[in-house]
Amino acid sequence: MHSNLPIGSVRSRLPHVKGSIFSALSRVAKQYDAINLSQGFPDFAPDPRLLESLATAANSGHNQYGMPEGSEALRRSIARMYEDLYSLRISADAEITITAGATQAISAAVSGLVHPGEEVIFLAPAFESYAPSILMAGATPVCVDLPAPRFEVDWEEVERRVSPHTRMIIVNSPHNPSGRCWNSNDVDRLATLAERHNLLVLSDEVYHNMVFDGPHITALSEPRLRERTIVVGSLGKTMHVTGWRIGYAAAAAPLTAELRKILQFTTYAAPTPLQQAMAQVLDASTYLSLPALFRGKRDRFLAGLRGSRFESVPTSGGYFQLLDYSAISTVPDTQFADLLISEHGVAGLPVSGFGTQYANSRLLRFCFAKSDETIDKATNLLRAL
Ligand code: GLN
Repeated sequence: MHSNLPIGSVRSRLPHVKGSIFSALSRVAKQYDAINLSQGFPDFAPDPRLLESLATAANSGHNQYGMPEGSEALRRSIARMYEDLYSLRISADAEITITAGATQAISAAVSGLVHPGEEVIFLAPAFESYAPSILMAGATPVCVDLPAPRFEVDWEEVERRVSPHTRMIIVNSPHNPSGRCWNSNDVDRLATLAERHNLLVLSDEVYHNMVFDGPHITALSEPRLRERTIVVGSLGKTMHVTGWRIGYAAAAAPLTAELRKILQFTTYAAPTPLQQAMAQVLDASTYLSLPALFRGKRDRFLAGLRGSRFESVPTSGGYFQLLDYSAISTVPDTQFADLLISEHGVAGLPVSGFGTQYANSRLLRFCFAKSDETIDKATNLLRAL
């Protein structure tokens, strides 16, 4: 059948996938010169030592291929971070792998560990790359919708969606877009489920350093999940340089071995000087300061909105604040986001970007990982609506 196709004709592997919502919104924000709180990235400078270390790394010859598993020094720094934060021992040699961004770690984990025909459960609203990563592995995405606006997990419903074909469940805490963080009950229920049905767990914890109301619980700290979980993290987020595209995966050695096979034939290795620079600077003073920094930014954003017609949904971690605009408008979220950009000069992200079923939830996501000045300008504009 394929041989009858004319040469050059395209049969899409992802026919229903459109362009990234993040790049689309950032493009429109730029076009209107709006304050861009849609895509999650800081607008403040990273630690100057990081930039100096990058210059030093590049100027001192760290410019050729590294090893596919990533810089040894950086893997050791990440292992130390897990020991400092969670008293967890993770082997830098066998269990930590550096990737070109957390998105790559997610896709490598799925394609390395899930077979065509198997099913992968994920919980919506969900980061946009989960479903395409599952599809690219030839597997079937099974989406469990969480109820707006708080998005608490109904574990009974999740269990009902498990089938004999289910191989993996993708979870995310702190949750993007809501900022909800898992409690010990969530982790316990996940562990029970994963054990009962012999599932792998892909735990997207890219905002683990930005939990401001209580400690972050990493899935790797639950003994029943330790051997079956791949944790994905983002040094771009931790070190305020999302454009560097450096993330990592932490998982038991047999899982890590499969993930590394995929990585070495996709990028071969993440960029050498960037890893070198991060390894010089990533220490306790970097990550221990982050919860207070981001709590302050969330509080400033919320204080700036006092008296506005937007209603905030409680958030306890991450980069983002959900705002309900029901008191202002009844239009679907993409339409409201367009209006906000073109007429009021602020870009927020429609939650339908995380699942089209949420288009009428009247929620937009705003990134508060911004300078005080940007937060104040944006909240002044939002308060006027
Ligand atoms: N994680 C960030 C967000 O949710 C951006 C990710 C991206 O643009 N690839 O906005």
